[in-house]
Amino acid sequence: MSSIKRTDSTGFPLNIAVIGAGISGICTAYLLQKKHRVTLYEKNDYFGGHTHTVMIPDGPDRGTPVDTGFIVLNPRTYPNFIKFLDLLGVAISPTAMSFGYYCKPTGLYYATQGLNSLFAQRANIVNPKYWRFIYEIVRFLGQLRKSYLENRLESITLGEYIDKQGFHQEVVTQFILPMASAIWSGPGRQMMAFPLDIFARFYENHGLLSVRNHPPWYFVRGGSHTYVRAFLDAFLGRAVKQSPVRGIKRENGEITLHFKGGGQEIFDAVVVATHGDQALELLEDPDADEKRLLGTWTYSRNETWLHTDRSVMPPDTRAWACWNYTREMDSDHRSPVMVTYYMNRLQRLKTVRPYFVSLNPGKHISGKEVIQKMTYTHPRFSFDAFDTQTALSQINGRQNTYFCGSYFGYGFHEDGVNSALAVAKKFGIDL
Ligand SMILES: Cc1cc2nc3c(=O)[nH]c(=O)nc-3n(C[C@H](O)[C@H](O)[C@H](O)COP(=O)(O)OP(=O)(O)OC[C@H]3O[C@@H](n4cnc5c(N)ncnc54)[C@H](O)[C@@H]3O)c2cc1C
Repeated sequence: MSSIKRTDSTGFPLNIAVIGAGISGICTAYLLQKKHRVTLYEKNDYFGGHTHTVMIPDGPDRGTPVDTGFIVLNPRTYPNFIKFLDLLGVAISPTAMSFGYYCKPTGLYYATQGLNSLFAQRANIVNPKYWRFIYEIVRFLGQLRKSYLENRLESITLGEYIDKQGFHQEVVTQFILPMASAIWSGPGRQMMAFPLDIFARFYENHGLLSVRNHPPWYFVRGGSHTYVRAFLDAFLGRAVKQSPVRGIKRENGEITLHFKGGGQEIFDAVVVATHGDQALELLEDPDADEKRLLGTWTYSRNETWLHTDRSVMPPDTRAWACWNYTREMDSDHRSPVMVTYYMNRLQRLKTVRPYFVSLNPGKHISGKEVIQKMTYTHPRFSFDAFDTQTALSQINGRQNTYFCGSYFGYGFHEDGVNSALAVAKKFGIDL
């Protein structure tokens, strides 16, 4: 790998490396190129990280772009990402957002897109147990909203709150935990450890604590890779894929990147836009703060399959939602979350076959229906993890090293953009 000539350290522009081409790295590179020479390194054979669009390879829907990672956004909670898309000239289209639950052991299924889906199983109209379940959902959401708005939430976990308030077990296992698991792609046990105030703030901001007040949702027209391509067209720096960085050495004010394939390059500054745990692994000489703060972040692995197997969905299409949580016959509280995104609805696909993206489907999906398998990792959010965010922002820039990623927020696209903006601000650059 050739070596880039380093600019004079008093000169302008700086020579900056950005490691990782997810939304955080892409947005950082886009911003920093306004004043500096930027090189963006990505280990995968595509740019985008969790922004990952797969083209249907054959059959009647050949060439259809299906998103297997990042899919949706809304104007209320993604203002900076939308601004970024506007700058890139990328169009968005309206979509729907709904949650569905399907429990194979009990046979229960429902969805949240109106009464027809809530009572997809018509027998539930006259089932007192089901009415009590609905009553408990309303009680949980209403009570949490009230406490949040009145600023009365204690510093406890979601699990502790559930125990304290004595919510009925059915609403916990059939609504609260499955929905949180679907949002954060973690098992129920992990969701129980989620800090309650942050959970409530996120739900309230997204209109999830009320029956009305939901933001309108959008997807990126043509698939989420459209904005990655638009970025690459607008990027004046160097973007290199299949280029995994092995280590970052900081010495005498210089940054040396070592690559897995061999070779090294020298920079004035580095922005590490990988996940938190990966960032720490890359540092050859992490200081005590970096070890402590980045070391707090752990991630859960989710096998993610793009497929056409409708057996993961409820038997009645009235209960097919955009995000569908499935409890399999053999699953327990330790099982990885199994969520299926119904892509035809989310991306408004007009295809002959239905397309699904399932997290952790394991043996439950027929091999011949699988189009592509991916592995994505998601941050595990806990009090300790959230506690690092402010301090991490404060050490940004030390030893010419900056960190960004969606783990600086709630783990979503807007968080990645905001973390990129925070890094860019340190260089005097804004969106
Ligand atoms: C299935 C799924 C669905 C999702 N849906 C949504 C959604 O609808 N809306 C939403 O807002 N969020 C969604 N998310 C959350 C998503 O994780 C975030 O929105 C965001 O895309 C994460 O961006 P990031 O830049 O922090 O990390 P990533 O996108 O993971 O980017 C990090 C990059 O760093 C690269 N990298 C790591 N190590 C190295 C190395 N040593 N050298 C070079 N490169 C390296 C990685 O390959 C990767 O490309 C979803 C996530 C998944 C997995």
